[in-house]
Amino acid sequence: MTAQVENVVIVGTGCAGLTAAIYTARANLQPLVLEGIMPGGQLTTTSEVENFPGFPEGVDGFMLMQNLRKQAEKFGTRYESGTVTGLDIAQWPYTLKLADRTITAKIVIIATGASPRLTGVPGEKELYGGKGVTTCATCDGAFYRNMEVAVIGGGDSAAEEALFLTRFASKVYLVHRRDSLRASKIMADRATAHPKIQMVWDSVPLAIEGVEQGAVSGLKIRNVKTDAESVLPVKGIFVAIGHVPNTEPFKNAVDTDDQGYFQPTLGSQVRTKTPGVYVAGDCADHVFRQAITAAGMGCQAAIEAERWLAEHGG
Ligand code: NAP
Repeated sequence: MTAQVENVVIVGTGCAGLTAAIYTARANLQPLVLEGIMPGGQLTTTSEVENFPGFPEGVDGFMLMQNLRKQAEKFGTRYESGTVTGLDIAQWPYTLKLADRTITAKIVIIATGASPRLTGVPGEKELYGGKGVTTCATCDGAFYRNMEVAVIGGGDSAAEEALFLTRFASKVYLVHRRDSLRASKIMADRATAHPKIQMVWDSVPLAIEGVEQGAVSGLKIRNVKTDAESVLPVKGIFVAIGHVPNTEPFKNAVDTDDQGYFQPTLGSQVRTKTPGVYVAGDCADHVFRQAITAAGMGCQAAIEAERWLAEHGG
């Protein structure tokens, strides 16, 4: 029996992947979307998205992704679960390797996003997930009602997480390694002005305490200017120090930069050195990393893919 050859396989269900799905589905290519371990991508862990055009009152991140998913499905997108472990480009159509099967595809659009970066300090790994260390305030914030928590980081994510946590926590320490936030001015102003948020400047995490008890009991920090060490008496630690792009399984097919982000070919944001393989969203963008730019890249990838396929055996 000959294995079915897919027209388009899109890896990832964030803004980039689902926008690529809407466009390729409307081009009648019946895309197959592979859903990994975090369906909907990073936006599903955001409470309110205030800067996606078209929503003057803001929009819930989870709802936005549900709607994109439905929109893509309406035009014939199919979804399957599966984590891609490799892409064989020796022969076209290409072969995607998954743990339990392979999928052959004429076009591959990689929109695998980026995963939260962790600090790597002692105690973090042991207490991650359900024991007090997390990367998602929207998911876990409500567990910390009337408790003191710490957010590590100084970007928009850290400011947003800290502000969200003020709904539950009695106090939120925002621990940043410098003395000014990287976050956009509006977010930085909101965070620094909030009465429940205490800024802990110039400080880096040294260790997370509570491994023996199986639950976070404190965050040990060091002031980088004075070298003074102290322990914040927190029960929850929210790590928000940026992301690592999910590009590893595709490094044979697509060039990456020194931070691991996909590098498209010159003259295009989404085309790669492998004909018929496109990239979109945070896995290929360390500059903008916005929902709307990811969606824009998904659209570009889909349109380029559609044109390439029409010329090369669609
Ligand atoms: P980010 O902007 O890269 O910020 C990461 C923060 O973590 C920086 O403040 C950095 O410090 C700190 N950091 C990095 N490594 C560290 C380490 N090992 N130890 C301690 N601190 C460390 O990441 P992000 O906040 O996740 O934002 C990513 C992108 O998404 C940005 O473009 C952001 O604007 C966007 N975003 C937007 C919104 C919104 O508009 N509502 C919300 C969330 C995210 P330094 O400042 O010293 O480098």
